[in-house]
Amino acid sequence: MIIENKILSLFPKLIKILTKMGKVLIIGAGGVATVAAFKVAQNPDVFTDITIASRTKAKCDKLAKAIGNPNIKTAQVDADNVDDLVKLFNEVKPDIVMNLALPYQDLTIMEACLKTGVNYLDTANYEPRDEAHFEYSWQWAYKQRFEDAGLTAILGCGFDPGVSGVYTAYAAKHHFDEIHTLDIVDCNAGNHHKAFATNFNPEINIREITQKGLYYKDGEWIETEPLEIHQPITYPNIGPRESYLMHHEELESLVKNYPTIKLARFWMTFGEQYLKYLDVIQGIGMSRIDEIEYEAPLADGTGNAKVKIVPLQFLKAVLPNPQDLGENYEGETSIGCRIRGIKDGKERTYYVYNNCSHQEAYKETGMQGVSYTTGVPAMIGAMMFLKGLWKRPGVWNVEDFDPDPFMEQLNKQGLPWNEVFDGDLEV
Ligand code: NDP
Repeated sequence: MIIENKILSLFPKLIKILTKMGKVLIIGAGGVATVAAFKVAQNPDVFTDITIASRTKAKCDKLAKAIGNPNIKTAQVDADNVDDLVKLFNEVKPDIVMNLALPYQDLTIMEACLKTGVNYLDTANYEPRDEAHFEYSWQWAYKQRFEDAGLTAILGCGFDPGVSGVYTAYAAKHHFDEIHTLDIVDCNAGNHHKAFATNFNPEINIREITQKGLYYKDGEWIETEPLEIHQPITYPNIGPRESYLMHHEELESLVKNYPTIKLARFWMTFGEQYLKYLDVIQGIGMSRIDEIEYEAPLADGTGNAKVKIVPLQFLKAVLPNPQDLGENYEGETSIGCRIRGIKDGKERTYYVYNNCSHQEAYKETGMQGVSYTTGVPAMIGAMMFLKGLWKRPGVWNVEDFDPDPFMEQLNKQGLPWNEVFDGDLEV
């Protein structure tokens, strides 16, 4: 009887061991991290242990409280500092770290992962602070080291990059023998009722939009002036919106992984008011990312001192915080891939997209649709890894993995997708 009882008492432990899937460490406590943390907590069968760490611990504590799960742990970390990260990773011992801080921290976090044997996922490729330039080369350079360490790194697992690559992989797997043209179309038809605000980190967002455009045609990259090429594109449930050709990082990996692509472009909508303000911001030098000297009064009132400030970082401090836009945000986003190519010898078109309501996103997570559409795929990517479905030593973009289980989860986790076959792609 005593032995029987002892065996029975071991059962819950055994079940926990058998069902234990994974320990996740989320770095960052901004808009995207908030959504990802909510979604991670909604999937306790996969994420058995959750820690949120960021520069400001109070933000992590607030987030854990908002989720209402007393088992979520929080910590402070400076993700620019490899030693600080290593100390945290050794304490938490996560299976995977979700880097939802800023692109500046990608390489320090990858270094810390290699030093401690932790797997890695992010939503944006590395950018040096002093140069608004993004390309995968810096992170792809880690491929051999991750492979040798037996660790998986999943790059760019938000919506775009992220779902845009999964959509393309799904199209290539199921609907095309050859993809010839790929147009990623990103529309935000929401209204936050502010004169000017960005939908994710203002510094990163303005750096992205004000740089030169770039697209791929017949084996070459063609540069354009910023937002030089534009045309109206019709979005489902929204209607026509002026859409601007921009450089976007996922084009780099997609044309490499699908060499039959002859034309690859990325389009994003902007309203007239947004562009007017952006023009002024650029015109008066507030989008500059170099340091300028500024004579500032000391906080204790004892005089003035010369300080160095980066105008764009200062602008970020005065712009609305993207995390506070949700409450009054109306309308929806619509992001998808418009693809032309060949199937069974015949030309065909395919459009796969998701529409996401800002209000629905806000009701569920307290964040607007742009954070939602990024945080949900980040969670799904980590889930794919922990389930062993996207686990392969090396550094990978999302389209390197099987898109099917990810597409299935998109439908379950709040970002359902729709397909249009042989319609007019407009682009
Ligand atoms: P936020 O500015 O809202 O959040 C960034 C978070 O990172 C903040 O909590 C910030 O801390 C923290 N952080 C910054 N620097 C450090 C550091 N050195 N150490 C520790 N924590 C740090 O950004 P978003 O949530 O809007 O964006 C997050 C990421 O998602 C960005 O990389 C962005 O480019 C990416 N993104 C990707 C998209 C996609 O579809 N793929 C779309 C939208 C965004 P603190 O609060 O103290 O400042």
